[in-house]
Amino acid sequence: MRDSQRIMTCMTPTFSRRKVGRLLGAAFTSCRCFHTELGGLESSALPIVHHSSYACELPAGHRFPMAKFPRLLHFLIKDQVITEKQVWVPEIASEALLSCVHTEEYLNNLMNGTINEQEQRRTGFPWSEGIVTRCRYETGGTVLAAEVALQRGLACSTAGGTHHAFPSYGSGFCLLNDLAVAAKYLMGISSPKRKVLIVDLDVHQGDGTAFIFKEEPCVFTFSVHCGKNFPLRKQQSDLDISVEDGMKDKEYLSTVEAHLPWLLETFGPDLVLYDAGVDPHGEDELGRLRLTDQGLYQRDLYVMKTAVSRGVPVAAVIGGGYSRDIDKLALRHSILHRAATQVWRECGM
Ligand SMILES: [Zn+2]
Repeated sequence: MRDSQRIMTCMTPTFSRRKVGRLLGAAFTSCRCFHTELGGLESSALPIVHHSSYACELPAGHRFPMAKFPRLLHFLIKDQVITEKQVWVPEIASEALLSCVHTEEYLNNLMNGTINEQEQRRTGFPWSEGIVTRCRYETGGTVLAAEVALQRGLACSTAGGTHHAFPSYGSGFCLLNDLAVAAKYLMGISSPKRKVLIVDLDVHQGDGTAFIFKEEPCVFTFSVHCGKNFPLRKQQSDLDISVEDGMKDKEYLSTVEAHLPWLLETFGPDLVLYDAGVDPHGEDELGRLRLTDQGLYQRDLYVMKTAVSRGVPVAAVIGGGYSRDIDKLALRHSILHRAATQVWRECGM
């Protein structure tokens, strides 16, 4: 078993020996509970995973841009980036599946609406059945994207990237850690366990994901984030690149380019889970970086092409993005699917 390297900062990396993770129990193989509605799917085109339940009602004036999910699909179809035949529909993530990452107590509280007020404030959402259902479909979508990517080489969801969720609590608009559930699911249904590289380029550190996999050698967590953005208290990913406020396209792209190739070569993943958050954009209301639309496009193109051209499948999720202008935000998120379409075409998939 290969010892992985853990690096804390960009310019002055430090290394430490990675602990050997616990092996998942054989019972986990029974969690395979996803399938797709296959009718009419366009088999030769890029798979897009979407569910109408990715969005739910929120109290009036709530700052989370919930409407971006259906608007994203709307723009992808309206702009003829995709057709409806490319859309794969996920099932809701079962409690059994979620329990591969989340504690029984937390899941019980989440399902029964017994999350206390302090915990609700930490998530940023008042509890509702709708928000729980939304997050379960979103997690199902990321799992499905990962499964389809293994078969087809590339797949994108129109939600996902809830990387701040920990096993026993939600945080920062994240109730369930979809990336972690997808990675554990894929590891659990194969022997030997699949290796998953999580490339998290959301402007916020993937703290929940880093915590969940800190002792798991089959998952490598790579996070490029703004050091002064949430969360204040960072966790230790296998590779953390903490960048300064105001970073622009060129320097940001160089940072990603400096690490992704050697990670793919040395870790040798069976799949890349890519969190393509658009909150590094200069107009994002929460992020502190200054990327442009073009910079995000180049970033997404680079990540997916670099992996796919090496024969490593990529499942991509949209991650964070914050703006009161929902249409502008949805279009910004569509950069991922536009770039993926180019990769799909150029790589002859
Ligand atoms: Zn974010």
